[in-house]
Amino acid sequence: MRNYNIIVIGGGLLGCSTAYQLAKKGAKNILLIDRKEIASQSSARAACLLTRARTKPGLMEMVQETYDCIDEIEEMLGESLGLQCCGSITIASSQASMKGVEAIEQAVTSFSLPNERIDNEKVSALLPWIDTSAIEAALYMPTDCFIDSALLCSGYANAAKKLGVEIRSNIGVKDIICKDKVVKGVLLANGDTINAPIIINAAGAWANILMRSLEVGLPFTPVRSHFWITDIDKDKFPVNHPFTIIPDARAFTRSDVGALMIGLRESECLSFDPSTLTDDLEDYDFEKDAKWRVLDECAPLLKGYFPQIDDIGIAHYVSGPSCYVPDTSYIIGEIESYSGLYTISGCCGGGVAVGGGMGRLMAEIVLGEKTFVDSQPYNPSRFGKIDPFAPAFQRSCADARSNKKGG
Ligand SMILES: Cc1cc2nc3c(=O)[nH]c(=O)nc-3n(C[C@H](O)[C@H](O)[C@H](O)COP(=O)(O)OP(=O)(O)OC[C@H]3O[C@@H](n4cnc5c(N)ncnc54)[C@H](O)[C@@H]3O)c2cc1C
Repeated sequence: MRNYNIIVIGGGLLGCSTAYQLAKKGAKNILLIDRKEIASQSSARAACLLTRARTKPGLMEMVQETYDCIDEIEEMLGESLGLQCCGSITIASSQASMKGVEAIEQAVTSFSLPNERIDNEKVSALLPWIDTSAIEAALYMPTDCFIDSALLCSGYANAAKKLGVEIRSNIGVKDIICKDKVVKGVLLANGDTINAPIIINAAGAWANILMRSLEVGLPFTPVRSHFWITDIDKDKFPVNHPFTIIPDARAFTRSDVGALMIGLRESECLSFDPSTLTDDLEDYDFEKDAKWRVLDECAPLLKGYFPQIDDIGIAHYVSGPSCYVPDTSYIIGEIESYSGLYTISGCCGGGVAVGGGMGRLMAEIVLGEKTFVDSQPYNPSRFGKIDPFAPAFQRSCADARSNKKGG
């Protein structure tokens, strides 16, 4: 049996960035543990957008932290994480989305991020596939990027390891051990116990399962996110052309080595009871028929911008769980009823872009430092007592994604 100062459960983007940020701040004797390979679950299925423009307070600072981490880690490891700096274009066609563009414009300008309105001629030059006739306004942000999310996750893990974090994969945590409401350690699936006074639950879509025996409900549920990748056509979809956010079509698009990645949000998103999830997402059926059903529902909205959507070949469909919270804010902080128990969860589909900042905030809270953004919006107890296994609560989480329009 070994003693650690801190155990982080979960080797996805949120656990790995937390371990990295803790170690960077000088915390010692940290164990990061995952029952599968590091970076193998939700963090290997993302669309990988690093969208900078955010209108909620503190979020642009958190995304900037991710970009800063990428620079630091590349320097520390002496290797590239493959950041693709393609820029982004947010497109508006209705009054509501025009207002959205104005709000984004104001936010990014006050954050000194380069941005410019571009005319339809420039939109066509940057996006050869698009029909511009419905476009009323287009906001170009040249410094937006995307990145392979599994590579980024492994980057956090390798940098954490270099700073002294011990990483164990392919060994699961069965239970979090507490006595008199104080954290003592974890019980592993093989029957071993490991002691630590601080446990951080970063177990992604499974985080609530680990909390169940402690009667703690984290206010999120896994909700299906998905995207489609077309056949390759390098003339129409030049490599690394800007990604787009099209709120009026509830869509985003991204270049994917000469093909087009298309993300769509159906009007009623699908939530999953976490207790039904398999340990490995490969073994879970996210209702694969959604590939065509959801495309049929959403394609008419995108058709005004991408008329070929009905005829283009679809080469791949990728789906997975994003952890949505009813207010679409993350869950980062200490669990009120237990001393030493923390969580970083409820990614709301933003763990790639915001993960570096989320990990920094988690590390600052754990180490009792002044936080670089206000931590209150992420307080795990802000909804009071909730039951994450109740269908009505799960529906409210799915609705949070159904109404999402950003990237
Ligand atoms: C289709 C799709 C598209 C997306 N697109 C984007 C995007 O463009 N931009 C963006 O910012 N975000 C995007 N996301 C969201 C992003 O992928 C997530 O926010 C991120 O991966 C969450 O990381 P995580 O660490 O919480 O979860 P995970 O990567 O799932 O990690 C959790 C880990 O915990 C481990 N674990 C669970 N239970 C235990 C246990 N009992 N013991 C030990 N280990 C355990 C699991 O094995 C897993 O490795 C997308 C998500 C999906 C599904």
